[in-house]
Amino acid sequence: MKDVLEIVPGVFWIKGTLGSNIYMRMTNGKRLILIDAGFPSDFFKVRRVLDNGLCLKPFLAIATHYHLDHVGSLYRLKKRYGLKIAAHTEDARLIEGKEAFEIYRLDLLRQIYYTALSPFLFQFKHTQVEVKISGIESFILGGELLAIHIPGHTVGSIALLDCQNGILFSGDSIRNEKGYLEGPPPQFSTDYRLACEKIRERLTNVEFDILLPGHGEPILDGAKNAVADRFMRNGEGIV
Ligand SMILES: [Zn+2]
Ligand SMILES: [Zn+2]
Repeated sequence: MKDVLEIVPGVFWIKGTLGSNIYMRMTNGKRLILIDAGFPSDFFKVRRVLDNGLCLKPFLAIATHYHLDHVGSLYRLKKRYGLKIAAHTEDARLIEGKEAFEIYRLDLLRQIYYTALSPFLFQFKHTQVEVKISGIESFILGGELLAIHIPGHTVGSIALLDCQNGILFSGDSIRNEKGYLEGPPPQFSTDYRLACEKIRERLTNVEFDILLPGHGEPILDGAKNAVADRFMRNGEGIV
């Protein structure tokens, strides 16, 4: 399928989404999970991939954080597939609508862009989070993934480490949008400096070879070195 790239056996990237990157992973028990879910409008692409391509039904979607470009299609996905949703406790409250989304200051161009696209992109519905992740590190899916709390982009941002495949799913804490690694966008982060500090602190001893970021192209080898060069060795990441 041209919409899907198999990164390593059993781990897929749904290409061409409008919101965040969306990844899929087969568990050891041959069940499918999603990692992040794009904008509300990305539901249609995910449905096409699942129903017409892979012919698989996901049972869990993990959100790396609550931003609309990552959780947008969760409501519709849950309705269609009956899947459960997992997120860090701190961000679960916002996904469930128990706490209001933060309002960010946008420049004029972005305001116009988002206002024009909002009827299409932002038909968001809050939904319940059944699996709440807490603590600095916690194993999920019977130990197949390690959720690492990296507060700073949002209070409950997480990265997910897939030890079996040497993959780090970094959400927005590390992006690769412009052909080089960046931290989270400072204008959309609760505390950008904290995010950079936590990336250094909590990813230094984590081993991975492949980086699957929330935005931008995956890095398919030597990813830990690239992350270390950018965030750990020379104190980069602070702007
Ligand atoms: Zn994002
Ligand atoms: Zn974000």
